[in-house]
Amino acid sequence: MQLVWFRDDLRVEDHPALYGASLAGGPLIGLYVASPAQWQSHDCGERKRQWHHANVEALRSALSALGIPLLIWREEQFSALPERLAAFCQRHRVAQLHFHRALGWNERQLERAVEDALLGSSTATVPYQDANLLDYDQVVTQQGGLYRVFTPFAKRCRQRLALVPPLPCPEAQSPLALPEPSDHWTESPLPLWPAGESVAHNALERFAQQRASGYDQQRDLPAMHGTSALSPYFAAGVLSPRQALYRLAERLGEPGTGAWVNELLWREFYRYLMHHHPGLSRHQAMYPAKQAPWQSNDEYLARWQRGETGFPLVDAGMRQMNATGWMHNRVRMLCASFLVKDLHLDWRLGEAYFMTHLVDGDLASNNGGWQWAAGCGADAAPYFRHFNPYRQSQRFDPDGEYIRRWVPELAQVPDPALHQPGPYLLAPDYPAPMVDHKAQAAGFTQAYKLQVKETQHAS
Ligand SMILES: Cc1cc2nc3c(=O)[nH]c(=O)nc-3n(C[C@H](O)[C@H](O)[C@H](O)COP(=O)(O)OP(=O)(O)OC[C@H]3O[C@@H](n4cnc5c(N)ncnc54)[C@H](O)[C@@H]3O)c2cc1C
Repeated sequence: MQLVWFRDDLRVEDHPALYGASLAGGPLIGLYVASPAQWQSHDCGERKRQWHHANVEALRSALSALGIPLLIWREEQFSALPERLAAFCQRHRVAQLHFHRALGWNERQLERAVEDALLGSSTATVPYQDANLLDYDQVVTQQGGLYRVFTPFAKRCRQRLALVPPLPCPEAQSPLALPEPSDHWTESPLPLWPAGESVAHNALERFAQQRASGYDQQRDLPAMHGTSALSPYFAAGVLSPRQALYRLAERLGEPGTGAWVNELLWREFYRYLMHHHPGLSRHQAMYPAKQAPWQSNDEYLARWQRGETGFPLVDAGMRQMNATGWMHNRVRMLCASFLVKDLHLDWRLGEAYFMTHLVDGDLASNNGGWQWAAGCGADAAPYFRHFNPYRQSQRFDPDGEYIRRWVPELAQVPDPALHQPGPYLLAPDYPAPMVDHKAQAAGFTQAYKLQVKETQHAS
C-alpha cells in the first residue's frame, strides 16, 4: 500500500507526491491530519481551519472519484503524530509514505520526527518538493551565494522557469475502503469562499480571460476586482503556481500577464528566503538592527484591529479583512506600514493579527509582507519611506468607492474630504484620526536614526 500524506497541498492534479505514489505501484490511500491546537499556536485562526476543512472535504470527493479513500486524523499537537503514523504503517504494511516538504520550522521538525520514526521499518519515506516554481537550492548568485534582493532573484528565476505541463491526476484504481475509521473533525462552513479544485480552476480561467491583460493597470485599485483573488487557493495548495504559470504561458510577454507573474515571483522570493532562513518562520527579523524601537499600546492595537483609526483607507482595509478574510494588496501595505510607522507598534503583532484573520494566511508571504513594511526584511521598504494614508487613498481610491463600501459611516462625506486631515470630524459616528500622521512619521525616522547611532556607538 502507498500512503500519501496531504498537508498544504489539497488537490489531486499536479500533485508530485500523489502522482509519484501512483507510479510506485500498489493501492493508494490518502491521509490528512488536522491539528487545531498546534495551528492555533501558529496564529492560524478559525477562518483558516474552516478553509482547510472545506477543501479537505472537496479533496475527499475528488480522491473518492479515483477510488482512493482519504483517512482523516485529529491530533491536537504535532508531537503525537510520528508514533501514530509509524504504528499505522506497520499495521497496514504501508510500503511508502509520500509527502511534500513544508516550509515552517515546526512542520520541518515534524517531518524529521516522522522520518526518524519510520527509519529501519519496512516503510520508506519519499519526500517531494511542491508549492514552488523552482528548486531553491539551485537559485544562487554567480558567486554561489543567496539572493537578498528581489529584482536579481526574479531575473534569475525567469531564466530558469520551465514551462512544463502540470502533472495529471493519477488513474482511477478499484475503489478501496478505509482500513480504519477517520477521526471526527468538523468546522462550520466558511461563507464567501467556495472550496475545491474545480472552483480554483474556474477562477484562474476567468482571470486569464477577463482580467490578466489589464492587471498592470488595475492591480492597485482596491475598489476594482482587478486582481486574481487566487491567494487562498495557492495558500492551501488547491492550485499550484505551476498550473497558474502554465495557463498563462503563451501571454507572458504581455504587460498585464508579465506584471502578474512578477507577483507570483514575490511569493517565490519570500518562500526562498524562509527556506534558507528558517528563523523567519519563528518571528525573527531578517535584519534585527533595522527594526526601529516600538512601544506597547493596547488601545492603539485594538483600534487598528477594529478599523477605527480615523484614517479612512486604513479602516476600510482592516474592516474588509475582518469581514471577508481577504484584503487588497495595496491596502495590506498601507495597514502594515501604519501599524509600524504611525502607531510605532511591534510588526509581529500585526503579522499575528493578519495570520489569524486571513483566509490566505501564508507563513512566508505574510512574514515577508510584514518585514517589508517594517523595514527589517530582505529588500524591504527603507525606514524613511512612509505611506501617507491620505495620499494613498487619493491616488488609489479617488472617488472613495472602496472606502465607502467598508466604512458606511462615510457614505455622505464628499470625496475630497476623505483624503485630507480635516479640521472637522468626517462624520458624527466616525472617529477623529487617532494620531497625527506627519508627527508620527517624523518620530519613527528619528527613533530609527537614534537607534542606528547608539548601535554604532556600542560596537
Ligand atoms: C503585510 C502583508 C501581508 C501579506 N500576507 C499575505 C498572506 O498571508 N498570504 C498571501 O498569500 N499573501 C500575502 N500578502 C501578499 C499579497 O497581499 C496577497 O498575496 C495578494 O493581495 C493576494 O491577492 P490576489 O490573489 O488577488 O493577488 P494577485 O495580485 O492576483 O497576485 C497573484 C498571486 O501572487 C502572489 N502575490 C501577489 N502579491 C504578493 C506579494 N506582495 N507577496 C507575496 N506574494 C504575492 C499571491 O500568491 C497571489 O495570489 C501580504 C502582503 C502584505 C503587504
